[in-house]
Parts: sequence; C-alpha cells; structure tokens
Amino acid sequence: MKDPEKMIRCVCLECHYIYDPLKGDPKQGIPPGTAWQDVPESWHCPECKITKAKKGVFKLLDE
Ligand SMILES: [Zn+2]
Repeated sequence: MKDPEKMIRCVCLECHYIYDPLKGDPKQGIPPGTAWQDVPESWHCPECKITKAKKGVFKLLDE
C-alpha cells in the first residue's frame, strides 16, 4: 500500500476487466492493497473466469 510500484493495475485482455490493487477482489478473498504479483495463481477473472495462471491474458498497466 505504501509502495506505488506494487500498486500497478492489471488488465484482462480477454474481457478488459481491470484488477486494481487498491480494491483487491474481496469476493475471492483478495484484500484491498494486494499487489498483482501477490494474487494467487488460482485467482480468476470475475468477468470471463480465466485464471491468473494462464499466460498472455493479463497485462500490467505500468504506463
Ligand atoms: Zn477477463
């Protein structure tokens, strides 16, 4: 939460859902403030259900 580098958002290229570390994903047990790299591989996109483990789908928005 203190390190802005860890608060990089990540977009799902499949459905354009954006994972925002500031919000996390409480529905899946990811508390607000969780950096993308700390999200478990078993997490899945709430829109299209693709898991984080799938490569090439999630892209960091590091401007
Ligand atoms: Zn998605």
